[in-house]
Amino acid sequence: MSTQTAQPFTATVLGSPRIGPRRELKRATESYWAGRIGQDELKKVAAGLRRDTWAQLAAAGLDSVPVNTFSYYDQMLDTAVLLGALPARVGEVADELDRYFAAARGNAEIAPLEMTKWFDTNYHYIVPEIGPDTKFALNPAKVLAELNEAQAQGIPARPVIIGPLTFLLLSKAVDDAPAPVVRLDELTDVYGELLAKLADAGAEWVQIDEPVLVTDISADAPALAEQVYNRLGALSHRPSIFVATYFGDPGAGLAALARTPVEAIGVDLVYGSVASVVAAPELASKTLVAGVVDGHNIWRSDLQSALAKLASLLGSVGSLAVGTSCSLLHVPYSLEPETGLDDALRSWLAFGAEKVTEVAALARALKEGREAIADAIAASNAAVASRKSDPRLNNADVRGRIAAITTAGANRGSAAARRAAQDERLHLPPLPTTTIGSFPQTVDIRKARASLVAGEIDEAEYTRRMKAEIADVIKLQENLGLDVLVHGEPERNDMVQYFAEQLDGFFATANGWVQSYGSRCVRPPVLFGDVSRPHAMTVEWATYAQSLTDKPVKGMLTGPVTILAWSFVRDDQPMADTADQVALAIRDETVDLEAAGIAVIQVDEPALRELLPLRQVDQQSYLDWAVGAFRLSTSGVQDATQIHTHLCYSEFGEVIGAIADLDADVTSIEAARSHMEVLDDLNAIGFAGGVGPGVYDIHSPRVPSTGEMAASLREALEAVPAQRLWVNPDCGLKTRKTDEVTASLANLVAAAKDARTGL
Ligand code: GLN
Ligand code: ZN
Repeated sequence: MSTQTAQPFTATVLGSPRIGPRRELKRATESYWAGRIGQDELKKVAAGLRRDTWAQLAAAGLDSVPVNTFSYYDQMLDTAVLLGALPARVGEVADELDRYFAAARGNAEIAPLEMTKWFDTNYHYIVPEIGPDTKFALNPAKVLAELNEAQAQGIPARPVIIGPLTFLLLSKAVDDAPAPVVRLDELTDVYGELLAKLADAGAEWVQIDEPVLVTDISADAPALAEQVYNRLGALSHRPSIFVATYFGDPGAGLAALARTPVEAIGVDLVYGSVASVVAAPELASKTLVAGVVDGHNIWRSDLQSALAKLASLLGSVGSLAVGTSCSLLHVPYSLEPETGLDDALRSWLAFGAEKVTEVAALARALKEGREAIADAIAASNAAVASRKSDPRLNNADVRGRIAAITTAGANRGSAAARRAAQDERLHLPPLPTTTIGSFPQTVDIRKARASLVAGEIDEAEYTRRMKAEIADVIKLQENLGLDVLVHGEPERNDMVQYFAEQLDGFFATANGWVQSYGSRCVRPPVLFGDVSRPHAMTVEWATYAQSLTDKPVKGMLTGPVTILAWSFVRDDQPMADTADQVALAIRDETVDLEAAGIAVIQVDEPALRELLPLRQVDQQSYLDWAVGAFRLSTSGVQDATQIHTHLCYSEFGEVIGAIADLDADVTSIEAARSHMEVLDDLNAIGFAGGVGPGVYDIHSPRVPSTGEMAASLREALEAVPAQRLWVNPDCGLKTRKTDEVTASLANLVAAAKDARTGL
């Protein structure tokens, strides 16, 4: 197969969801792990899903279909297998698939690889480990088998692999090895071997993903990409190469790729801009795969403006293909099961299947003229117009109130004034003990929720059962001797969904599942309109809990940034404006909690760092609006009401200044694993608030001893004065078992008492 013979394609997507339209793969893998089905059965389910996905993409009119985007767990882990880069410790597992799952999830003897967020999505990838002993060796069985399968099905198949630069820059060095990227040359040879194998197998095109080019992870990335693709492009025996960038503007990376001999380059034209494409003259001889259909969010394309974008590129590129901005992995399969939506709302949306149709329509318009898709354009225009004029997207009251509050300044009293007022109200001992909010989600709680959904019990019975749980949790905390209690969050299925279900401007999908990692899926709510709060959301539970005890009960809310981060958010106004609307609803809730006698309120922002933009130039303006939204949500209460926040990480990096700017009275953070380094980081920026570095690692079933927690506290006291130090676990307890939690918290309270004696 020589390079020049492959025809440019015209319509494609960068990848597809793979968990199954009814989460078939989730069920099958979990059954396999539990020993309920064998490998044959699991593989059958997987093959069926691949077959259906390819058939649908081809039938929709794509003339190039991605394959090898299927995964039993994760595409980075697949790439580690492809390159022979699994760590030695999993080598003892004889069976190939079990070895793969052991790397992903660990087993009794083997620690799993780490997992972290995939760029700015809610997907998490497995972080490959590159050590001094890692010997790259091509293992192309999976990609060749999938290519073969697709070809046998008559599919115009294009294998997709993660590129060497992205692979190495997202991997982690272990055992004192140097940064993995030093091995780029060596790894490029392995990719060269792979290209030859793919050519032998009849692949006309290969897609090589280099999303790392849209980030600032390495300033050298464009130059390194140029080296890699010059070398791979110079190989005589290979398929045509399509290098895909996505999740933003490739910046200098685009011109760098354009100078190499690769045949096609993909750019994200939803989150990136057309200007950089027009500015790269070398693109005149390339196929540009224009990602004009949003793969990262669920809104219907405005076909007319997408066509205008495409038309503006025609003179600058050799040939133009229509694509998605990124893989459709990040959106649900199809709108078809969403029967509960009103017609207007439904007309604004496009899930995976609908996006494929949009790509095909746009490609057809490029080929045959826009009249060929006149009906689709008319429908798209109608949807755009309906969305613009829908009253749910413009709530004058909400907008007016936000303007008034932000003009007046969303500030509280000085930290000193607040501290004095709170000390007088709360009378807490030094080193006060508390928890992060949730207590174990017991079988009874889950049963009650399922029965409510199934209609077996009514609201009143459900409420009665939740209150019984709350009473148990309050009694437990009183017995343990904690100082600031929580109601335990039994009524919350999920800390974002719980609020989204009660706020106007959101809707919950029936089947909008998206893979989060491995077999885990989430169903993000859709934030489509102006957000408002028709009624109080948490007051009943919090006041019930408070009625059972003389100790302060901490009200528990989710912050605006986290609510946005874990939802699909409207794209017709800046995120900052949407964040303020959510913040106003949370603010109203804090005011209601305060009026109901709640003296301590926690507003969780575990996702503050997750939404940080990929490019440094965009980060400060993000942090400004994120902090602004948090302060809007927490500045409606009196100085005597204590505001807590909770963050789920300990390496603050770029967000450390923002954490101080949140101006919460007390901040609890994950620190059980990082040995209080966080306190030094906070001191370095002059953080002066209350701080609770987690002394109990809730991510492990282990019960920490009093001695070790007391030792952590003494260590913390060297960095933070006793008046500012809080004692708490490092996250919510919902995933733990009641007996573990009881034992651990008993030790935690004892450790606090122990540490107090030295003061
Ligand atoms: N309040 C929440 C809980 O305890 C916080 C969860 C989180 O940090 N992700 O479950
Ligand atoms: Zn947490």
